[in-house]
Amino acid sequence: MQSSSARSHGNTFSALEIDRGSEHRDDPLWLDEQAHATDARYLLLRTDGHTLVRADGRGLHELSRPACERLLPAGLSPTYLGSASDGAHFLLRIDAAAAERAAAAHGGRFIDLRSAGTSLPAFDAGLFAYARGLAHWQERTRYCPACAAPLVLESAGHRAKCTNPQCGLEHFPRTDPAIIVIVTCGDACLLGRGPQWPERRYSTLAGFVEPGETLEDAVRREVFEEAGVRVTDCDYHSSQPWPFPASIMLGFTAHARERSLHLGAELADARWFEPEQLVAGLKSRELVLSPPVSVSYKLIEHWLREAAGLELASLVHDEPFMPVRR
Ligand SMILES: [Zn+2]
Repeated sequence: MQSSSARSHGNTFSALEIDRGSEHRDDPLWLDEQAHATDARYLLLRTDGHTLVRADGRGLHELSRPACERLLPAGLSPTYLGSASDGAHFLLRIDAAAAERAAAAHGGRFIDLRSAGTSLPAFDAGLFAYARGLAHWQERTRYCPACAAPLVLESAGHRAKCTNPQCGLEHFPRTDPAIIVIVTCGDACLLGRGPQWPERRYSTLAGFVEPGETLEDAVRREVFEEAGVRVTDCDYHSSQPWPFPASIMLGFTAHARERSLHLGAELADARWFEPEQLVAGLKSRELVLSPPVSVSYKLIEHWLREAAGLELASLVHDEPFMPVRR
């Protein structure tokens, strides 16, 4: 049986083999050496969270240090992301005007993270997700939540320090855990549809973990709140960074003893699908699932393989992406 580690590695944005070098982030000399190395690369992130990719769309278009200095002659404030087999990677946040200049000078175009999940190699997609999550935190964490004084970024962009000497609190990038779960009962699995979603669109149930909860408590609570179903047991499946804007999706499988449903306010509909119903729905296009970049897809794929020995990839059609957020 596949381990959760191998399953996570197969999720989109989750195959980032990089040494984050956290022990060096407070060493300015070391960082300076990395930043000026000839193989240092700078991922450009535009204010709207888009990044520069090559003209053929098949990979990130990271720039060298000299190219970045020509782009922003007034100076750079890069964030160290980490070092991979091809050298050190930095994040450089730029405004729309600089982005336009970069694309004009170097070719390529700016794309969003969702498109990157389906079009870029796994490492590039993972690096973009990491950079985007960190940049979002940097942009939104400018004042101290305790005393409202301005913050300054430290530790190569990975820590924010309050400038009020009476306070001096340190703040760190946040990641909000969200569970996502495929509930089964006998041969059937439970899928639901949010009120804002297109009519044919169904997904596994999901929700944020609350303070004081274990992940398993969150699974039980969300499934009961959304569908009125009591989960008897659940197990961890895999995880996925989901920086839309700051989540990590924690995939679970779960069992229920009964199929009776009682919908809460978060769902417009929920149904139990036997494998043959799911297959028929996909074939007739009366049913649309979350796209392959999502953990929801991976959970349904896992269930269909175990319940019926079928491969989901042979049944789905390309459909526009819809984010799984409540
Ligand atoms: Zn403060």
